[in-house]
Amino acid sequence: MTKNNFREEGSFIETVDPNDKDKMRTFHMKHDEEMNYNCKQCNTKISAYNKDWHAPLCDKCFDQMMENKE
Ligand SMILES: [Zn+2]
Repeated sequence: MTKNNFREEGSFIETVDPNDKDKMRTFHMKHDEEMNYNCKQCNTKISAYNKDWHAPLCDKCFDQMMENKE
């Protein structure tokens, strides 16, 4: 996988240890797979992907956070 592909796949990439297999596993999952977690802001159901890669926030809170950053 090239760096470019890595960047295109998600809008927000945290620093990740490639040896962290649990986290690399969820990176390739869809946003609606394993909805077993809760958004830390509004407590809505979120996927394993959002838990590991979105702070852990639902898509809505995540978008808001990104907007506030800019
Ligand atoms: Zn939320």
